[in-house]
Amino acid sequence: MELETSYTFDAAHRIRGHAGKCAGLHGHTYRLDLTVSAERLDPLGMVMDFEDLRELVRKAVLDRWDHATLLAADDPLAEAIASVQHEAPDRVVRLDGHPTAERLTREAWSAIERALPAHVRIERVAIRETPTSGSALARLRP
Ligand SMILES: [Zn+2]
Repeated sequence: MELETSYTFDAAHRIRGHAGKCAGLHGHTYRLDLTVSAERLDPLGMVMDFEDLRELVRKAVLDRWDHATLLAADDPLAEAIASVQHEAPDRVVRLDGHPTAERLTREAWSAIERALPAHVRIERVAIRETPTSGSALARLRP
């Protein structure tokens, strides 16, 4: 049985070196879709409690990325923003590579997978930058 939940978060990013408009700092209201599963339901008939799952995703992903600037660790803009944004030093997030939807999807998968209870398995993560464009990662089925 699967559970499906959706979340939104607002963040700025840029793809340094991109030939088009993504090279400039800009923002998105991202949408994160998550599917998890369990072989058996718990005594209440649930894969897991929706609120517990939401809290877990909030701590694993949203608290770090919402209202943050997501940049590659080697992007000089990260240091430039951090040096003047003293009110929110933790709102510049340095990623291990370009902050594409694909990278965010992988990072969200890893962070959520680490935080899930042992009996719950992550099945799919999708992150949309816009209503029409995004990235997804799903567990391969045999
Ligand atoms: Zn973008």
